[in-house]
Amino acid sequence: MKSGDGLGLPRMSAVATRHDVVVVGGGIAGLVAAGRAAELGLSVVVLEQGEGERYLCNTRYTGGTFHVGYTDVAKPAAELLGVIDKATAGFSRPDVARAIASDAHRLVLWLQGQGVRFLNLGKYHTYVLAPPSRTGPGLDWEGRGGDVMMQGLEANLVKRGGSVVRGTRATGLDVSGAPVVRVHATQRGAPVAFDADAVVLADGGFPADPSLIREHISPVPEKLQQRNARTSRGDALRMAQAVGGATVGMDCFYGHLLSRDAMTNDALWPRPYVDALAVAGIAVGPDGRRFADEGEGGVPLANAVARQPDPLSATLVFDHTVWMDAGTSPLIPANPHLPKAGGTFHEAGSIAELAKLIGVPVDALERTVADYNAAVDAKATAGLTPPRRADKYAPAPIRKAPFYGIPVCAGITNTMGGIAVDGDGAVLDAHDRPIPGVFAAGAATGGLEGGPAIGYVGGLVKAVLGLRAAERIAAVRDERSGAAHTLPTSIPTRSYPMVHALVKYGHALAILAALACLAFGIAFAVRDGAIAYAAASLAVGVLLYVLLKSYTELVSIIADMMLPK
Ligand SMILES: Cc1cc2nc3c(=O)[nH]c(=O)nc-3n(C[C@H](O)[C@H](O)[C@H](O)COP(=O)(O)OP(=O)(O)OC[C@H]3O[C@@H](n4cnc5c(N)ncnc54)[C@H](O)[C@@H]3O)c2cc1C
Repeated sequence: MKSGDGLGLPRMSAVATRHDVVVVGGGIAGLVAAGRAAELGLSVVVLEQGEGERYLCNTRYTGGTFHVGYTDVAKPAAELLGVIDKATAGFSRPDVARAIASDAHRLVLWLQGQGVRFLNLGKYHTYVLAPPSRTGPGLDWEGRGGDVMMQGLEANLVKRGGSVVRGTRATGLDVSGAPVVRVHATQRGAPVAFDADAVVLADGGFPADPSLIREHISPVPEKLQQRNARTSRGDALRMAQAVGGATVGMDCFYGHLLSRDAMTNDALWPRPYVDALAVAGIAVGPDGRRFADEGEGGVPLANAVARQPDPLSATLVFDHTVWMDAGTSPLIPANPHLPKAGGTFHEAGSIAELAKLIGVPVDALERTVADYNAAVDAKATAGLTPPRRADKYAPAPIRKAPFYGIPVCAGITNTMGGIAVDGDGAVLDAHDRPIPGVFAAGAATGGLEGGPAIGYVGGLVKAVLGLRAAERIAAVRDERSGAAHTLPTSIPTRSYPMVHALVKYGHALAILAALACLAFGIAFAVRDGAIAYAAASLAVGVLLYVLLKSYTELVSIIADMMLPK
């Protein structure tokens, strides 16, 4: 791999270099689109603004779980479609939802075919990029799943003749020369251009663009914590809009509630997040009153915090029972990581004392907690103002001292809305018509997530649109040239037959080996008339059985976690 040293870079010239496909952005969505296009015989270049060998992006930071609305991607498409529909309360575009539901599993299988390794960590974490992040607060990405996957995908792309051109920020599109699309970019300050039959926009959305965030998500963007690589600044969105592309669902983001100290303390983001405490207790504003339905979950609550006039004014309030229960439950739990990593953690013997510590009016907080407790006891939290649903997350009373308060902020991971696309990632205009040659994929796209329910479906699975965009671009090429439409996968999945055989027959092998040992011992004992042979062979046989059986179990555990399904 070249790291922006000029090798492999297109020559700077007034004349545009020509490719079949230009991809803007080298995260998972861009690399999947590029890799699939190259696999299908297209010439591809990825324009990446990052300079370094391991340029930062959100994929580099990812937790690495491929899921569809917290559901295993290998579930039947119909079930996944139902999950998307429920999570977003029907907001998703049907064709995009169908594409994700039907191809999420194909995406991980394709990645496995590219040599990407996964772990099965149970529940919906059945495909987690390997190796996973170490458990602990703060960032941990180097040599972890997203980083390793990206290196592998780039190496495969290069093998197929493609390249990732670093230090190149795409700035504009020109579709006036259709069917050729021209991508304008700056390369270390100088203008360059790339011509192609198609462009795939995959810049990761607009979480790090203050003006777009102010326009759509929060009145005070500087008071949100960027829970991401700060590399996605809405360039693709603006490029698409400039050629007539529509946008959809711009007002929501995927993110979590973090300790407010995460704004200045890097050990407190991206984890631990404190959603589990919020949905068990309450969140209050500077007036000591609740301002949102905590029962909707951490992602909608983070959005509600971001929408406050002052997003740095919310505090979670809960009691000792919640701290010892919900506080310890999720991955990298707040208890004990948050106080250990330096997150402010107020503790008081009474609600009045807590109110003083967190700086809200005493009588208001006492009233809020009393009303809340009464509603929890009466199972009538829907009658609170604002209402509190109890069917997703059970509300817990705030009764057992000590009482706690955690000042929070909204951590924005990625934007849910973005460029309007169809199920193949084709960018759509305001009349739902595809703009020829212009595609988008990944977190740059909208239409899958968000809506009034602020429904979250998943970040990594949106790379499905990159896969499908590449296939549609190849199909158009094939139609034009009259060639047969083939979808080869030229890097075969490794099969590990011996490991599979050991998992399947290991136990039988252990029994056989032990019995064989015993049989030898008995045969010798009969021949020489020495019972000691039989006794010794029994002992060795048992030992052999125990050793082989434990070895088989160990291999089974590893195979369960790591082998392609
Ligand atoms: C801490 C963290 C944990 C996460 N955990 C999970 C998880 O477990 N499961 C899950 O599904 N999702 C998770 N996500 C979200 C998921 O990782 C992202 O949604 C996904 O990686 C986005 O991929 P992408 O390719 O669309 O964008 P990115 O990976 O952000 O890539 C976009 C690339 O485009 C480049 N770029 C931007 N503008 C330009 C331009 N004008 N020209 C050229 N290049 C440009 C950027 O430099 C960047 O390299 C997590 C995210 C974070 C930050």
